[in-house]
Amino acid sequence: MGGVIREMDNKLKDEILELLWAMREKGSKSFTEVVNRVNDNEASDTLRKMEKSGLVTISNDDVELTEKGEVRSRDLTRRHRLAERLFHDVLEVGMEESEETACEIEHFLSPSVTDSVCSFLGHPPTCPHGNPIPRGECCSKYRNEVKPLVVQLKELDVGSKGRIVFIKPSENSRLERLASMGIVPGSVIKLKQKRPSFVLEIDETALAVDSLIAEEIYVKEQK
Ligand SMILES: [Zn+2]
Ligand SMILES: [Zn+2]
Repeated sequence: MGGVIREMDNKLKDEILELLWAMREKGSKSFTEVVNRVNDNEASDTLRKMEKSGLVTISNDDVELTEKGEVRSRDLTRRHRLAERLFHDVLEVGMEESEETACEIEHFLSPSVTDSVCSFLGHPPTCPHGNPIPRGECCSKYRNEVKPLVVQLKELDVGSKGRIVFIKPSENSRLERLASMGIVPGSVIKLKQKRPSFVLEIDETALAVDSLIAEEIYVKEQK
């Protein structure tokens, strides 16, 4: 039981840390506002505990993140907002559901997985709500790399190769047709020409596809 209680405690603590980050973006640090927005009986106790463990400082109605609290809160915000982008943009989950799922997922993403998600999405600067995503190590490393890791097939240069990561068909029936031509996630394709039509090479066979399909196939460029 002890473990379960500790876990719930942590969840509330993380929720508060994230809220403090979001409030600070809007210029607020009010203790009362935190308690009202968290909507949990334990909120003010938890804030006091967080003060004891050195995550925040409290004076009058002001709550401020300490350096330690700041690191944790920044990290949670980053994971939450990246998860939102992933669900919203790639999996096309609705805004509200993306938000809820992000709240769960943020607790499980390891730092390296977080950076992989960030790179996969092309180091997005904001979440779907327009809030800034705190930058990670991956972002500064690839600061000069304009292209995201995964691009639409039509973005590839003629002559380059890409491995199919996912296909987002506007009609489901198309997936089957593509699959019958060997166009499935995992296959490596070479872009032979873009004009007048798209021509791909897959297993040494050339295939012409229309430009709409070239927008629905997402590849990771092979160097
Ligand atoms: Zn958001
Ligand atoms: Zn990044």
